[in-house]
Amino acid sequence: MSQILKCSVNWCDSTSENCTENGEDVTFHTFPKCQNIRDTWIDACKNDDEDWKPSQDSVICSRHFTDDCFRQTKPRRMKFKSTPTLHLPKKIVWERSLRDQVMMDYLRALNDKRRLIKLLKEKLLMERRHDRRKT
Ligand SMILES: [Zn+2]
Repeated sequence: MSQILKCSVNWCDSTSENCTENGEDVTFHTFPKCQNIRDTWIDACKNDDEDWKPSQDSVICSRHFTDDCFRQTKPRRMKFKSTPTLHLPKKIVWERSLRDQVMMDYLRALNDKRRLIKLLKEKLLMERRHDRRKT
């Protein structure tokens, strides 16, 4: 198996080349066939493309699973029905157009530090407001 595996979770930079955790190799796990569990995995990835579907080679790294998701075998095997729960990105639910708008503003503000800081603060506020609505 010489192919480099890359974790499908958005913002996770685990690849089979670079990754150990607590001295143990991070393992990579292909998406389950069972549709329900598969959907949970897909949702956990929070891909920017909402219609994203994993390919046959898509994997999620072991950092997103609690220890009890694994059988104590070498190499580690995942238990049936395990779903990723750790180190997952928060879903950013801004309307896509709004997100693009914010990006444009960032780009324009790059040469204007004060404006950039103001924008960043607004973004933080927006995220906090969103978090509050959720709870
Ligand atoms: Zn990962």
